[in-house]
Amino acid sequence: MQVKISEQEIQDIVRRVVEDVMTGELKSSPTMASGDWGVFDDMNDAIHAAHAAFLEYESFDIQDRKRFIDAVRRVTLDFKEEFSRMAVEQTGMGRAEHKITKHINVAKHASGVEFLQPKAWSGKNGMALEEYAPWGVIGNISPSTHPSPTMLENIISQLSGGNTIVFNPHPVAKKLNAYVIQRCNQYIVSEGGPKNLVTCVADPTLESAQVMFGHPLTKLLSVTGGPGVVEAAMKFSKPVVAAGPGNPPVLIDETADLKLAAAEITMSASFDNNILCIAEKEIFVVESVFNEFMRLFQAQGNKKLIVSQMDQLGKKALELQGKYYVISRHHVGKNANLLARDLGMKLSEEVPLLFGETDKDHPWVVAEQMTSCIPVVRVKNFEEGVEACFKAEHGFEHTSSIFTRDMNRASIFARRMKTDVLVINGGSLRGNGGLTGEGYFSHTIASPTGQGITNPRDFCRRRRIMTAHSLRFVGS
Ligand code: NAD
Repeated sequence: MQVKISEQEIQDIVRRVVEDVMTGELKSSPTMASGDWGVFDDMNDAIHAAHAAFLEYESFDIQDRKRFIDAVRRVTLDFKEEFSRMAVEQTGMGRAEHKITKHINVAKHASGVEFLQPKAWSGKNGMALEEYAPWGVIGNISPSTHPSPTMLENIISQLSGGNTIVFNPHPVAKKLNAYVIQRCNQYIVSEGGPKNLVTCVADPTLESAQVMFGHPLTKLLSVTGGPGVVEAAMKFSKPVVAAGPGNPPVLIDETADLKLAAAEITMSASFDNNILCIAEKEIFVVESVFNEFMRLFQAQGNKKLIVSQMDQLGKKALELQGKYYVISRHHVGKNANLLARDLGMKLSEEVPLLFGETDKDHPWVVAEQMTSCIPVVRVKNFEEGVEACFKAEHGFEHTSSIFTRDMNRASIFARRMKTDVLVINGGSLRGNGGLTGEGYFSHTIASPTGQGITNPRDFCRRRRIMTAHSLRFVGS
């Protein structure tokens, strides 16, 4: 639901909050609402509680933090089936078995306190030490597409940095998100941690998001979502880690291993019905191998649609909103067999993807479609393919991939795309580390603000301390 809020209303909310601060009402006081294991009716109360928790959290050392974060990792594993089932029930998107994998990925591969090693310099002028310090309370927005994994991964990263956290979750998943927060707080408290390290509002709205964005006690914002929320958060004069939209293209040239490309793209683009921002959203294939690729893609169990069926389904599923085509809520994250019903086709639930040929400006290409139907576009040659990929990505600089045996071409592609994640000869999901890639994993890939695949350092300030003319104990 889109609720419009005027500039004047925003200013009134911010002014009221600032007045609260001036009159001292923001101090943690005995009258502060106690919440229900981190869940509050009012955003101001959720922020105050997270702030009181921060003041307490500061007295714990990094080993304590690790213990609390391990507790959050245990929550993620202990409740992975229940959280996944609830996500499908509440959002109507994706596949429960894939969501379980996402939770395992978070529990095992989200980065923690090991990323906060201090750095030191020693020389004739003395010694300098740089450390990662918390911001305080971080205001978070989480998406509907991975409500619990994003939240759990943000909790692990941001608590690692010594921060506490307030969430304004996506309304469609508010019950699941409140439940996740309650379980995390319970596990943390049972490890001797402060209460309310993580808080949220029970009923998130656009207004409560505005309060969170503008509140003087939220020192950093971390938003994961589409272009609207990124723009809304950036209107406030405070730092933002923004994980915005992507529209990852994949290019297949005539030197590529086509069978590998067909298998990898099927695995990656069909995962959780293509609701990951990092998964392939459109495929470009060099003309000389186009027909062979289509045959091999079908051989992976995907269902080929004819051009008119792609048009017909596109008219039902995609609509122009402002600059962008967007997918309708009824079609996002749906199994291929459910999409096929719109065309009067009966398919098995096991079919990974629908696919079909379109031109390069078709709404299926332009939209970040986030569902089980992927367009395939014929390009004359590698050079035309690179430019088509560049255009389809809309300059988000998020994710792209290429299948080629020519590493010189792969380098040309990488330099032109300039995406934060670039995968060569693999499904684009592999670019985000974890179970299918290399390196740490994150559900918050911050392209608009430049952090890329985020880790705890991205939620910290850097502080340097210098001791002049002393403490240099090696050398003269
Ligand atoms: P969405 O933009 O509809 O909602 C995301 C969040 O923003 C929700 O909590 C929503 O309530 C809030 N929101 C939306 N407009 C707002 C506004 N004007 N003010 C305050 N809050 C607002 O997105 P979604 O459908 O939930 O998630 C899918 C989108 O998120 C896709 O575009 C996807 O690419 C992106 N995403 C990006 C990453 C990443 O790491 N870059 C990860 C996951 C999702």
